[in-house]
Parts: sequence; structure tokens; C-alpha cells
Amino acid sequence: MRLRFSLLGSLSKIESRVASEIPTCILPLLLSKVVLPPTLNCLMPNDDTNPLALVNLGNTCCLNSVLQALLRCEPLTAFFLKDTTRTPVTRPATNKGPLVSAFQAFFADMTRVSTRHYTPTGLVNALAAAVRASDSDWWAPRQQADAAECIQYILDSLHDAVYRQVRITIHGADEATLPEQRSQVKALQSWTQFFAKEYSPIVEHFYGQYQIIIRCETCGHTSERYEPWLMLKVPIPGGDQAGAAVPTFKECMDAAFAAETISGYACDTCKSPQTATMTTRISKLPNILLLNFKRFTNAGSKIRGQIDWDLSAQSLRPWMAFQRCPFRDAPVAAKFRTFAVIEHHGSARSGHYRMFAGASTNASPSWLECDDESVRAVDVGNVVSPDSYVIFARTK
Ligand SMILES: [Zn+2]
Repeated sequence: MRLRFSLLGSLSKIESRVASEIPTCILPLLLSKVVLPPTLNCLMPNDDTNPLALVNLGNTCCLNSVLQALLRCEPLTAFFLKDTTRTPVTRPATNKGPLVSAFQAFFADMTRVSTRHYTPTGLVNALAAAVRASDSDWWAPRQQADAAECIQYILDSLHDAVYRQVRITIHGADEATLPEQRSQVKALQSWTQFFAKEYSPIVEHFYGQYQIIIRCETCGHTSERYEPWLMLKVPIPGGDQAGAAVPTFKECMDAAFAAETISGYACDTCKSPQTATMTTRISKLPNILLLNFKRFTNAGSKIRGQIDWDLSAQSLRPWMAFQRCPFRDAPVAAKFRTFAVIEHHGSARSGHYRMFAGASTNASPSWLECDDESVRAVDVGNVVSPDSYVIFARTK
């Protein structure tokens, strides 16, 4: 069976000039790219030959670390820099317009500023205003913030302001006969339902999808559903017990994807409450993976411990739903190369963030430590630590 998943007319709207030069107008999802004008290539802010430090404006180490990492997410910067003479906001009704403009100005400044320090006042003020205007309370100026929440809020907000309606077509669905193929079609259909009306570069590059299967223990009937996700949240099993060994990455992921028992499940076949088992797997990986180690416990403590994350080629294959990725019609590419790591020092009540950036264009990988006003080269051995908190990685 050949499953083909394409986005019709969608990116042709986003990239109208480019699309008009492509007579087919069919851009396979995920393989489509934001096309940069050639002159922009030399201005990419993630060119680490002249890294900029960000001035701390009072407890903004979290935001600075997140901004340094987002700066290195090339599809995001490319989207904002492709035409800086106009705003990419597509929804006049959004209240996130000023935040989008602030991001556009920030990314543009980072390509132009020739000093070693940059003070992101405009962006911090726009973010504070956006948070005040929304129901969200993850951050207030001069207060500590959580980097994982910060990333999710920023990407959700940008998505909210720039999404468009697109037409996604699934080819080859009628030929699906094997159970895995039928599941793949469901995964594609679910993605279409979630995003055809709200498609954005954030969805395109940062969102993955879970497959969730619930099996009735009495009759064996299964039901499956699919859910998108922006950040892979990984627990650290046993981490809150004194003296416990630090688990491996595999043990952390096995805990994240452990089967769960559900009591009182309303089985469609049995027509009565039953015990069921819920299994979750990854049906789609994003181009840019955001992975968060859950170091903060509900009891208000923090779990330290160095997880054996492979910076150059971490595989997520054991937790994948399919052998073949229906979104690419190709074998699953489950290996990731890390380009940024955000680290949290201190306790759950107070702490400090800094981030490590890998220069991915360099043949021999080199790493930078971005710690507010300080940016310096560090040994790769410093990058993964007992305090690694959010990892940014792209598919190899
Ligand atoms: Zn049943």
C-alpha cells in the first residue's frame, strides 16, 4: 500500500509567491520547507560565529534560555524572517499580534546587532502583556518561570496568531487492509481533523502525535484514538526516593509509555463497565523534538540525576507505534541530534536557568553555554547534566 499525505493549496497560500512557481501545488507534509530568499542565508541568527548574549532584566534567565534555544530552531526563525516588512499574523482577531511583532523584531535584531549583548526589553514587555491579557498565570514580570511552560506558551501563542485553514488530502486510504495500515489511515485522518482548520509552521515542525489504544480485558475489544502533542514529558521513575539509582533514559521512557489499567471502562461491546488496559505509543515524531524531563514533583521538590541522553543520535524507536511512518510514506526516522539543552539549577522554589547550544553546521560539534550576559565555549561533557531540563533535537 502506498499512503501519501499531501497538503493541497495550503503552503501555497503561506508561500504564495513560491507556490505559484510550483505548478503541481502538492507539497508533502513535513517534507515541505519554508523557502528562504538566498540573501537571508548569511543572516541566520543561529550562525554561532557571533553569538549574542542576552541581558537579564530581573529573573528573566528562564526567558533568555528559551529565547536562545528558539533562535536555533531554524524553521521558526526562517518563518519570521522571510519578509520582515510585514507581519505574518493571519488572524486579525487574535490578541497575540503584538507578541508576534515582538518576536519578528527580536529575530531580525539578532541578525543585525553587532554588539555582544542584546537587551530583549521589547519581547519581555510584549510577553508580559500577552500573559496578562490571557488566562495564563505561568509567569509575571520579575518572578521565576518554568522553561517548559514558557516554551509551550510561546509556541501556542505564535500558532494562535499565524495559523491558516488548509486542505489536507490522504491518498491510498482505500487500499488499507492490514491492521497497521488501517491504524495509519486513522492517524492521518486524526491529524487532518485536528489541524486542517488551524495549520501553522508550529504544527508543521514541532507537533508529534500519540496513538492511544484501549483494550477491554473481558472481551478483548480495542478502540484507538490519536492525539497531537507539542512536548514529550518524561518522568524520572524513583527519582523522588532518597538513595535510589538514577534511571536510564530507557527506564524513563518505559515509565512514560507504561500500560495503564483503567477500571470502570465503558466497553462498547460488553455494554457495561469493565477493566481495560491503555497503551500509548508515538505515531508521529516532529521534525523538532521538545523533550522535558519532569524534575519537579507535586510535593514541591526537585529530582536531580543525569539521564543518559545521547546528544548525537538518540533513538525513540522502541516507543513508536509504526514501523513505517504514514506521514512520510518512509521508514520511521526515530533518531535525533540535539542542538539545544536548557538546564535548571537550584530547587523547585528558586533557581537559575542557562542553556547549551550545539553548532550543528560545524563538522566537529562544538558547544556554547549561554548564561544571560555570558556566552562561552564549553566541552561537550558539560552539556548533559543532573539538571538537564528541556532538550531541543532535530531528526537526523
Ligand atoms: Zn468488552
